Amino acid sequence: MSFKHIKKLFKYLDGCKRFVVGYIIVALIEAILGVVIPIFSAKRLVYLTDSLMNQLLLASIIVALLNLIQIISNCFKSLFYKRINLCSTINIQNELARQILLVETSEVDKVSSGLFIERLANDTSEISNVFMEMSYWTSYFLSNIGVLVALFILNKYFFIFGLIEAICSFFVTRQRVEKQTIFNKGIKAKKEVKSGLITEVIHGIRDIKVLNAANSILDEIKHKITDVADEERKYQKVYISYSALESVIKELFDFIFIILGIYLFKNELVTIPILIIAYNYQPRVKRTLLAVAELLDYGKRFGVAFDRVFEIIDGDKFKKETFGSVHVNKLEGNIEFRNVSFGYEKNKKVIDKMNFKVKPNEKVAFVGQSGAGKSTIFGLISKLYNINSGDILFDGISINDLDCDSLRNNMSIITQDPYIFNFSIKENLLIAKKNATMKEIREACKMACIDDFIMKLPHKYNTNIGENGVILSGGQKQRIAIARALLMKTEIILFDEATSALDNKTQKEISKAIDNLKGEYTILIVAHRLSTVIDCDRIYVVNDGKITDAGTHEELIKKSKYYVSLYKNEEC
Ligand code: ADP
Repeated sequence: MSFKHIKKLFKYLDGCKRFVVGYIIVALIEAILGVVIPIFSAKRLVYLTDSLMNQLLLASIIVALLNLIQIISNCFKSLFYKRINLCSTINIQNELARQILLVETSEVDKVSSGLFIERLANDTSEISNVFMEMSYWTSYFLSNIGVLVALFILNKYFFIFGLIEAICSFFVTRQRVEKQTIFNKGIKAKKEVKSGLITEVIHGIRDIKVLNAANSILDEIKHKITDVADEERKYQKVYISYSALESVIKELFDFIFIILGIYLFKNELVTIPILIIAYNYQPRVKRTLLAVAELLDYGKRFGVAFDRVFEIIDGDKFKKETFGSVHVNKLEGNIEFRNVSFGYEKNKKVIDKMNFKVKPNEKVAFVGQSGAGKSTIFGLISKLYNINSGDILFDGISINDLDCDSLRNNMSIITQDPYIFNFSIKENLLIAKKNATMKEIREACKMACIDDFIMKLPHKYNTNIGENGVILSGGQKQRIAIARALLMKTEIILFDEATSALDNKTQKEISKAIDNLKGEYTILIVAHRLSTVIDCDRIYVVNDGKITDAGTHEELIKKSKYYVSLYKNEEC
């Protein structure tokens, strides 16, 4: 925890700065009261033992009033605390969610989804909670400083004793906190792995059932849960053993206090009233130490959570997507691959010096064996992955020069298994165009050959379609995705045909949906069945990351043995 952390955190207090100011004022009032109240309380005891009743009454009234002010300021402090906590958590969560969406796809591929889920769900709230706890304990510590000040005024020996007690406890607590921090990091890392696995299990629940693999998956889940529990046990062990040591030290100091009191009294270095006052202060001296211990503990926890969140926000852990600055409202649809090379891993080319051109409103297809690199071409066109060398040009402008909107607002990609959100069908379509009218939505769905199906659903367009469109078949999801693309009216449509065999009717409906677009849009298809691409303006044959042949279906049948072999196998 440092000034740098606080400065960064301050940026996320937008919308609640007035509560921060209020909180600081109330905390200052409390700190002042913390110094003043013990002094008047001590005076009260002195007046009592000296039988000065008038002064005692006056001091008691002052203490009562000060206590009332303290109660009121405490209420405000709690109120401001909650407001700041809530506001900062929301702001940090929003920013982290935004930054996670900017992380490069290649980086996301490398890690488990649990990493992002844990940090977004838990670490963001931990930052705010822990920071607020720290400010609470800081003001508590400051208010208890008053006790030490009063001790200093009343008796130097007890003051020095209090200081020694504080220093001893501080070192023991520091040791505990350092050990706990190590386990805390371990717990968080293991929780990420556990959350990642659980997310995957939920996504793959159907496969797990069909494979009858519930037992082995449960073993794996149990293993991960045990891993987290083991770390938590180690954390608790440190906590319990050090807490016991801290208690022993406190008891020891209590005993020494009595011995010291007897010694000072016998040597006339302390009077009975001051001895009573100092004894009454003992619990508060201890609580001042507790505040230091809590501050240390929370400080370390804050640092861990803060680093985990801000290494994503600041881009230290994951590379962020970068775009150029050239803005084009509407791309015409010219796409050119110029000597493009790319590999998901270093030294393993998936696309190798690839060259091809597509003109506006053409319908072209990429065919080739599975693993040839066809879907990767779409990943590069949509800049989900960055090319390693060469260039991709849109209307002659390099992909690296275009800004995000020019690129992504001008293309839609229909993947093999499009993601459909757990909303209604209508809401899923509105993602593509926020203000689309019902008429526009239905027209798009009619063109995508999915309107008839939707109208037969119990709540028609308002039917909720479950997580990842669970009530829809693969073909229906693709047609919803086509409708989304039609609503967006993007010039370029990238269609990655489903590899899994679709029944003839669905296949025909999807082909019809794509045919409906021909001539008006620039359509690129990754084809896994040759029958669907026979009418394309041009077919590119992809083999081992290279274009080995190009032409219409008729031309390729005549000139490409490889294409003929693919055609005969009817699988590409
Ligand atoms: P196709 O679409 O022709 O079947 P792909 O473009 O999907 O082929 O894949 C080409 C190669 O890249 C394959 O060897 C595949 O295993 C690999 N690959 C695809 N996606 C990834 C990824 N996200 N990370 C690493 N390797 C990948």
